[in-house]
Amino acid sequence: MDDILSRLAKGLASGLIEIVDLTHTLDADFPVMILPPEFGQCARFRIEEVSCYDERGPAWKWNNFSCGEHTGTHFDAPSHWVSGKDLPYGSVDTVPLGNLVAPACVIDCSAEAEQNEDYLMDVDKIREFESAHGEIQRGSWVLMRTDWSQKKGSEYINLREDGAHSPGPNADAVRFLVDERDIIGLGTETVGTDAGQAFHANPPYPAHFYLHGAGKCGLQCLSGLDRLPAKGSIIFAAPLKIRNGTGSPLRVLALMNGSGNIPCGS
Ligand code: MN
Repeated sequence: MDDILSRLAKGLASGLIEIVDLTHTLDADFPVMILPPEFGQCARFRIEEVSCYDERGPAWKWNNFSCGEHTGTHFDAPSHWVSGKDLPYGSVDTVPLGNLVAPACVIDCSAEAEQNEDYLMDVDKIREFESAHGEIQRGSWVLMRTDWSQKKGSEYINLREDGAHSPGPNADAVRFLVDERDIIGLGTETVGTDAGQAFHANPPYPAHFYLHGAGKCGLQCLSGLDRLPAKGSIIFAAPLKIRNGTGSPLRVLALMNGSGNIPCGS
């Protein structure tokens, strides 16, 4: 009775393993990416009541909801981008299960993002992280902490006449993570894995282009990255199993070492 899952269960029950929610609450107010008007637009989250213990259903309550695949805290599958369109196992219903439960490295770019809303994480920043915490292991999620999740309303998308302004990785950083570290994917606190001005990069939207072209995934609109250690957490990020889906809203949870004083789930 001391197998690895029993020890996990004991850790959860005792609070020695803590569960952290990295998910924003999904509602109609949560901002979505806005593209130039000539392109199709992602729909916001909508919800309508079907019945509420009333004449429409006296003993039950339920709702219909609708939204774009890329709404709220959400998962990007490789088929989201043209560079990954022909890859096998590239949609949310086929992406390998090992991608959905995996260790995370959290690179703290919050100071840089506070100084510069267009901050681009570069290879030097990743190497600085590795000098302090050791090499990013193959098969990890890399989460770029910017504290952007704490921004409210229009500051979140930060749209101006020349487009959105928010931090992200530069092209070389993404290529390094894909080619040299073989990560599972990149997670951000902003509305995309790319910076707000990444349309001007070469190639445009380099995180989408390189990650998805290599079969890697994305997580966006994460919150609570400030609660995670640089290394040592495990991320659970399982999108809805939409046939041929390119992404999905989801609940992202992290397990991390806790103090043992906090009951599980609080
Ligand atoms: Mn997306």
